[in-house]
Amino acid sequence: MTQSIPQHPLQVAVIGSGPSGFYAAEALLRADRAVQVTMLERLPVPFGLVRSGVAPDHPKLKEVIRVYQRIAQHPDFHFCGNVQFGQDIQLAELRQYYHAVILACGAETDRSLDIPGEALTGSHTATEFVGWYNGHPDYRDCQFDLSQEVAVVIGQGNVAADVCRILLKPVDALRRTDIAGHALDALAASRIREVHLIGRRGPAQAKFSAKELRELGEIEQCAVQVNADELQLNPASQLELAAKTNDNSVKNLNLLQTFSEQTSVTGQQRRLFIHFLLTPLRLEGDSRLQRAVFARNRLQGDPFAQTAVATDTCFSLDCGLLFRSIGYRARPLPDIPFAHRRGVIPNQAGRVLESDKKIVPGLYVCGWIKRGANGIIGTNRADSLETVSALLEDSGRLDTGVKTGQQGLLNQLAARKTAIITFADWQRIDQAEITRGAQYDKPREKFTRIDEMLACLI
Ligand code: NAP
Repeated sequence: MTQSIPQHPLQVAVIGSGPSGFYAAEALLRADRAVQVTMLERLPVPFGLVRSGVAPDHPKLKEVIRVYQRIAQHPDFHFCGNVQFGQDIQLAELRQYYHAVILACGAETDRSLDIPGEALTGSHTATEFVGWYNGHPDYRDCQFDLSQEVAVVIGQGNVAADVCRILLKPVDALRRTDIAGHALDALAASRIREVHLIGRRGPAQAKFSAKELRELGEIEQCAVQVNADELQLNPASQLELAAKTNDNSVKNLNLLQTFSEQTSVTGQQRRLFIHFLLTPLRLEGDSRLQRAVFARNRLQGDPFAQTAVATDTCFSLDCGLLFRSIGYRARPLPDIPFAHRRGVIPNQAGRVLESDKKIVPGLYVCGWIKRGANGIIGTNRADSLETVSALLEDSGRLDTGVKTGQQGLLNQLAARKTAIITFADWQRIDQAEITRGAQYDKPREKFTRIDEMLACLI
């Protein structure tokens, strides 16, 4: 006998409106049974890192927003912006209105270096800088001393590449992007002439995508310098490059070799130096950052498992600005298990686990807060599908009868909160940003404060 599918919808709350949240919503709305999705977002504006992480000079990557807009038009999808999980609404309350809750809050903070001087004025996280130039309200008031001439970027992933490009590009190349106006003004007055991009391992282990590394060589009026000696590979790294799956590293090495052969570096206004095998030991300065001190490293271990081991040799760089770009990590959420060492919510294929590995019924996770901060936007699709498959598999157990879903939530929030942002409200904010941008020939001029976002709805 086949089991009959209940007539009432399965009510699911998705916390977070970045790529993983939208892909989870899409998968839920394509299920064989009726599902209603409420997406909660702490900001009045959706799209997470696509809005506030993707670099302004990468507009193609933002086109995925069209897919999310289509998902948002589904009659069983509801957006509930300006509502912070754990503050405006608690997990226990959501459980009254929803059969299941999916946490898709991303990884909002950084890993730290844990070295002396890390907190000196002039030392920042990439998260702050990226959030600032992308107009995220949390980072609107950050200050970066762009009167300095030398900046250091620690880490060799795609975020570090973004930070270097924004620091080094002529400001005219950014004027027609959606970069925040305050960042454009500050960058127009920047005196940065030299950026040093530092990796703790070798060129074969650099995490840039080849496309991003190539772009670093294409910045106008900027020369890239790499010391050819640092491109010599040890036998384990040679084996890594010979592996069929490592095409990206081969491309990276070829690009780095091209950079190392460049001769016409004089006359360029700005320079990017790419260094390998350096681990930051300490940041020095009297009242602010003046110098970064590094240990020279050698690599040790088997192919694909090589680690950097410090030698006795040190190297120091005078610099007034430094960005740590060594990966994001998630923040713990109220009443939710958290694996502090890995910076993720412990889970089994998206089912949240207690510390004793028992499954927490009705609680799921997807995206960076599930697997760590890795992969590109599209990686989240398969990840969210895995989580939603687990949820739908469990739905027989979760569905204990009719739940009110967004109506129950809205009734509760109405008593506490005035401004709840619907998707239609966001579309008005969106239109206002586009109109503001048009006068500067920009795709949009973002509102960078929550008050401004709300004020344009009055
Ligand atoms: P990432 O790719 O993980 O790179 C982190 C870098 O920091 C690595 O070079 C890592 O070196 C280094 N690092 C880590 N801990 C360190 C320490 N204690 N000291 C010194 N160096 C350290 O992280 P990400 O750049 O933040 O990027 C996150 C994800 O977003 C990635 O998947 C990335 O591809 C994606 N993303 C994509 C784009 C794009 O497609 N355009 C743009 C931005 C970001 P080790 O290798 O030695 O650990």
